[in-house]
Amino acid sequence: MMSLTGQVAIVTGGARGIGRAIALELALQGARVLVNYQASAGAAEAVAQQIVASGGAAFAHRADVADQAAVAGMIDACLGRWGQLDMLVNNAGIVADAPMMRMKETQWRAVIDTNLTGVFLCCQAALGPMRARGYGRIVNIGSLAGLAGNVGQVNYAAAKAGLVGLTRALAREAARDGVTANVVAPGYIETEMLAGVPAALRQWAVDAIALGRFGTPEEVAPAVAFLLSPAAAYITGQVLAIDGGWVMP
Ligand code: NDP
Repeated sequence: MMSLTGQVAIVTGGARGIGRAIALELALQGARVLVNYQASAGAAEAVAQQIVASGGAAFAHRADVADQAAVAGMIDACLGRWGQLDMLVNNAGIVADAPMMRMKETQWRAVIDTNLTGVFLCCQAALGPMRARGYGRIVNIGSLAGLAGNVGQVNYAAAKAGLVGLTRALAREAARDGVTANVVAPGYIETEMLAGVPAALRQWAVDAIALGRFGTPEEVAPAVAFLLSPAAAYITGQVLAIDGGWVMP
């Protein structure tokens, strides 16, 4: 389905994991995609080349989402290439886990910087061009940890919960400009981010998930693409969990 033909997207952290799957899905649906990365230059180029090889349009662009000047440069690069920005996916994220009593301030600040301040900076920079055209779609990638909490992740859970409040406030502010903002909150998705999860915790999590397994990035991407599409015009300020039936409020 080519529902995003003619539109332009930025996907932060688009080189690997969930962001990569989102970038490829948006391209499949006809969008031109700026594949943002910080460290994974080769992987980001590979994603962009895969899109171009399939007849789409994409390029890789390095920017630390927590760096305001770099974010401004990313938006400029997008507008310079394509003259518009319709969709922003704030997917870039890190973990720096530790039990509360052992968590260092540097761990706290690093995760808040990337996972929350980074989202603020990217939303703020993208809003100008979206408002100017009276259209925009923003999806912020949250986490079940931000809704239900998670042991060893007070920094991560705080950032992801903060992102929900940010998104809802933005949804109210930007509605009059034709801009929607929603959160997609994955549960356990098989990516490099889960590399450090011990086997016992994995088994505990799988046992608690109704569908009895972790998800894949490709099972997150289509829902993100839908929320980014014109068809989702009347959905804003919402949180969509994609967790295999782990937490059901
Ligand atoms: P990965 O660790 O596989 O990928 C993380 C991505 O974030 C990489 O592309 C990385 O880019 C990018 N990134 C990190 N820091 C920055 C930065 N400062 N600026 C730009 N990009 C940055 O993680 P996932 O794919 O699993 O996670 C993607 C999102 O989904 C995150 O927000 C995560 O919190 C969320 N999530 C993941 C879950 C899971 O189970 N996997 C569950 C719930 C939420 P690079 O390599 O170029 O540095």
